[in-house]
This record gives sequence, structure tokens and C-alpha cells, in this order.
Amino acid sequence: QRVQVKQRSDAITGPGRDRVGPSSSSVTKKITIDDFDIGRPLGKGKFGNVYLARVKKLQAVVALKVLFKSQMEKEGVEHQLRREIEIQAHLKHPNILRFYNYFHDRKRVFLVLEYAPRGEMYKELQRCGRFDDRCTATYMEEISDALLYCHERKVIHRDIKPENLLLGYRGELKIADFGWSVHAPSLRRRTMCGTLDYLPPEMIEGHTHSEKVDLWCIGVLCYECLVGNPPFETASHSETYKRIMKVDLKFPKVISEGARDLISKLLRHNPIDRLPLANVIDHPWVRSNSRR
Ligand code: AMP
Repeated sequence: QRVQVKQRSDAITGPGRDRVGPSSSSVTKKITIDDFDIGRPLGKGKFGNVYLARVKKLQAVVALKVLFKSQMEKEGVEHQLRREIEIQAHLKHPNILRFYNYFHDRKRVFLVLEYAPRGEMYKELQRCGRFDDRCTATYMEEISDALLYCHERKVIHRDIKPENLLLGYRGELKIADFGWSVHAPSLRRRTMCGTLDYLPPEMIEGHTHSEKVDLWCIGVLCYECLVGNPPFETASHSETYKRIMKVDLKFPKVISEGARDLISKLLRHNPIDRLPLANVIDHPWVRSNSRR
């Protein structure tokens, strides 16, 4: 069933046009909302909602993200969406949420995305409290492999955190939300909104940053998965900044020796000292615990 859906979904892909129409002719028709059966809402985002949907002619299940143009214009994020589409449309990896297509009408932009049946990692972490070594090491291998693929294409994600990670049919990690991603190296400063917990020192200081920001973020992610909260969390922004700048890292007893070693090698102030992705995959703790 899954293989069938995947094969069919591939036929959805195309630059704003579809192959939903007559396949034998050169006439292509633009996709519209009428090409979909809309199902239950999957979640609410800042600029609109996400729905489970089915492409009528293909019977392929997808996630349809609906974004309101007026809200995006108000916040001035159209350029961010354009970049997200450009970048994500070119990435094809089992641990990166597939972007199939997009279309728009007068008021809305629609993104046709791979459906991640097990939802947000963030919610799973809230439900479980924390993940065991086996689960976390599997995630570390999956995310490292996906980021290796991105970095080879000079794409840095810059916003890795459990809210931006979705889970597939078998619980496999899927990187979603490339809204903050850029082509490396970057001087772009990000507006300070949302959580600071994953910001690396060089982004706090506003230096140029490279793909090594993602290494810092997966170090924070590994810690949060195993402990249940991020390592530099405090009640105030300024205290969190200070702890990040000092790399004030404290391990609770629950973290095993191997995981401590990996996290310590990723959370280095100097980006060039951070453990490269290939070495994360080969790290003894990952190798002995990952079930990928
Ligand atoms: P977003 O606007 O991307 O933050 O999405 C809002 C919520 O919808 C997320 O928190 C997810 O729970 C859900 N969601 C978004 N995209 C998908 C997807 N491709 N598959 C399943 N659930 C999704």
C-alpha cells in the first residue's frame, strides 16, 4: 500500500503544473483545490492550517498546507516561503519531508507535502517525557544522514528542533520546515522569535555562520530527546544566552557515558571543533544503539 502511494505521489511533482490531467498530451493544466478531496485537519500553523488530503485522480494521500497571503504579507515572509519552496522542492531524501508541488488562488498558497502519519516529534516527546538511547540514537543517525545530504548541496537548515521534525509511518524522522534554511555561508541574521534554546553561539553573536550551526542544533536535540528539556533552558532570554555562550552544559545522571561523549563533541563553542556528521553516524554510541 505504502509503495503504491509513494509511486503515485511522484506523479504529483512538477513546477506548479501537474500531471493530473491527460497524460498522453502535451497540454498541462494547472492544479487547483478541486483536484483534492480534503480530509481532517492535521494541525494549525502561524499562517494557516494543514489538512490531510487525497489527490482525486491518483488516490495518493498527501498533506495540504494552506497559507493565507494576507497574513504572510503582513509579516513580510513571502521571500521566506519562496526560498522554502525552492530549497525543499529539490531535496529528495527518506528523512526529509517531500515537497511535491504548490499552487495558489487569489487569497491562499497551497503546498502539497508528504504526509507524516505519526506527527510532530515535539508532541511525541511531550507524551513520552523523554526517549531512550535506542530511539534517540536512531534519530541521530537519521538526521545526520539527512543533513549530510543537505550540506553536500550547500543547504543549511538552521532551525532543527523537535517542533520542526515530523515522524513517518514507522516512526522515522522527517525534517520539515525549511523556512529558515539558506545556502551556506550566510550572514543573514534571524529575527529573534520563538525559542532561543537551539541558537548556536555564532548566531547569537551575529557572525557569519556555516553549515556547522546544524551540528550544534543536533547536539541540543540529542540532549533534549534524552533528558526531556534542552540543555541551556532558563526562565529568561538573557540567562539562556549566557549559558549558551559559556557552553554551560550539565548532564543529569540518566544520560549514558556514550551519549555524553557525543553531545560534548557537538556542543563546542568553536564551529570547527564540532564533530562532523559522518563521525556522528560512526560514533560508537550511535552505532551500538541505532536501529535504523
Ligand atoms: P506548520 O504550519 O508546518 O507548523 O504545521 C502545523 C501542524 O500541522 C504541525 O504542528 C503538525 O502537527 C501538522 N503537520 C504539518 N505538516 C504535516 C505533514 N506533512 N504531515 C502530518 N502533519 C503535519
